[in-house]
Amino acid sequence: MNHRTWIELSSRAVASNLKNFRDLLKPTTLLTAVIKSNAYGHGFMEMAELAFKAGADLFGVNSIEEAKLLRSRFPESKILIMGETPEIQSRTKEFSDSNFWVIVSRPESVRALDSCKPRPQIHLKVDTGMGRLGSSNSELEQILNELISEKLFVDGIATHFASTEDVIEQKYSKLQLDQFKKAVQTLEAKGFSKLVKHACASASTMLFPDAHYDLVRIGISLYGLWPSLQTRLSLHLTGKTDFQLEPVMSWKAKVVHIRNLHADSFVGYGSTFQTSAQTKIAVIPVGYYEGLDRKLSNNGSMLIRGKRAKIVGRICMNMTMLDVTHIPGISVGDTVTIIGKDGEEEVTADDHANWAYTINYEVTTRISESVPKYVVD
Ligand SMILES: *Cc1c(COP(=O)(O)O)cnc(C)c1O
Repeated sequence: MNHRTWIELSSRAVASNLKNFRDLLKPTTLLTAVIKSNAYGHGFMEMAELAFKAGADLFGVNSIEEAKLLRSRFPESKILIMGETPEIQSRTKEFSDSNFWVIVSRPESVRALDSCKPRPQIHLKVDTGMGRLGSSNSELEQILNELISEKLFVDGIATHFASTEDVIEQKYSKLQLDQFKKAVQTLEAKGFSKLVKHACASASTMLFPDAHYDLVRIGISLYGLWPSLQTRLSLHLTGKTDFQLEPVMSWKAKVVHIRNLHADSFVGYGSTFQTSAQTKIAVIPVGYYEGLDRKLSNNGSMLIRGKRAKIVGRICMNMTMLDVTHIPGISVGDTVTIIGKDGEEEVTADDHANWAYTINYEVTTRISESVPKYVVD
């Protein structure tokens, strides 16, 4: 691999994660592989191919732009568009695709999409407690009356849980689910039938079998990452201790330079690290441009030759320095593991999240699109 830095993707891990989710679902529930935002940093088209091969029923994206990009490679696939589009009424030509399933929050959007030829599937979003997209149950009646008076119909109804990942007791999610059931009843009472109903992302799919309905939307765990530690504990408490996820991504780089510094030398911008003895420093060509969080400055480690090496000094725009004094034989050109396994050692996206006070979602999603992706097994 003659790159400075690259990402290796395991197709085996994608297939295994997807199969483990499939085993949780009724045979009739559709599984959406959520690949928005450059597939959470894993590479959009690369992950689309892997999820397609692993048998995902739909792709989940945020925007019409992502949907169109996918369409150029997957002419027949169903694509769930989950984000809102401003001025959708001026973009009906782009939405004219019978295999686009579009989640909308407003009657104007239903009207705009209904005029598309061919017409996409239209799914109405209900806000059951997220406080984001959709409308609440109290507004639903009026929206439906408006649609009915114009002979507009919708094909599906969707909601999103706000805090399944954040807690172990799931009182709030249960309230949300009750609200969703009410919304479904309201639609059905108004004569909307054969609705595609959906509510679950990764965590809720694991924890609420009653909420699977007709489709689930799996993002983070398709990539082999747990939505949170709370989710992992909660699933264990339900007795499902054998549910496994396998990380799909390994992030690697090459050592590009090695220095031998005397005691009392400084490393990096701001001279925030000072050596206390003779120290060997390796320079890694990855910095915050490539997506390494600057909060890992003097905080975190990478793997070389099966050994852990501490990050010293500040993360630069395109470089990071490691203390490799204890690694025999270390050479320019050695492979560095930023995320992944090397021998007995492992650095995970969750380790990065802990070091940077964030969540694994942000860690992988922030890895630059410029980092090349390779499928390795
Ligand atoms: C991103 C997203 C998902 C996927 O969530 P994960 O927690 O990554 O599984 C599901 N539904 C909606 C509406 C989303 O925006």
